[in-house]
Amino acid sequence: MTFDHLWAGWRANYVSSVSDGPENAGLEDGGDQKACVFCAILNSNEPDQQLHVVFRGKHTIAMLNAYPYTSGHLLVMPNRHVGEISQLSDLEYTDLFAVTRVAMKALNDAYDPEGMNMGANLGRAAGAGIPRHLHIHVVPRWLGDTNFMTTVASTRVMPEALSDSWQKVREVWPS
Ligand SMILES: [Zn+2]
Repeated sequence: MTFDHLWAGWRANYVSSVSDGPENAGLEDGGDQKACVFCAILNSNEPDQQLHVVFRGKHTIAMLNAYPYTSGHLLVMPNRHVGEISQLSDLEYTDLFAVTRVAMKALNDAYDPEGMNMGANLGRAAGAGIPRHLHIHVVPRWLGDTNFMTTVASTRVMPEALSDSWQKVREVWPS
């Protein structure tokens, strides 16, 4: 199984769910913050439970993917609207990966998965649905879950309600 195959299942949902205009076509600069769904969540006054945000830090936020590949699929990203790792300050970079490590531990505690994928799709060509706001996927994995997805590749599979995932992850996330 290649990385491409892993992400392809839910990518279509993301691509169709966000504005796909030319302003989202690249990651040359950090512009177009207004159209960014992640920035909308970052700046929203809705409760975190509704937004499926599991952690808000000074530099980094972690939230459940609204289009999860498996239950507990998390997105960890800088609070600042930047598309590339090279645009992060040292502090933002360090914090991003520190929170990613916490996210992986939390998912291990909450779901006891058989494996995990952690990674980022950088740029539209690499499969990013929202290329202008860098985000790291942390995906709990179980043996056989890809076979299942392949069978139903055109259908989005949500094995667990996002609100249930939110509860589970929040319970084990260190405060
Ligand atoms: Zn953004």
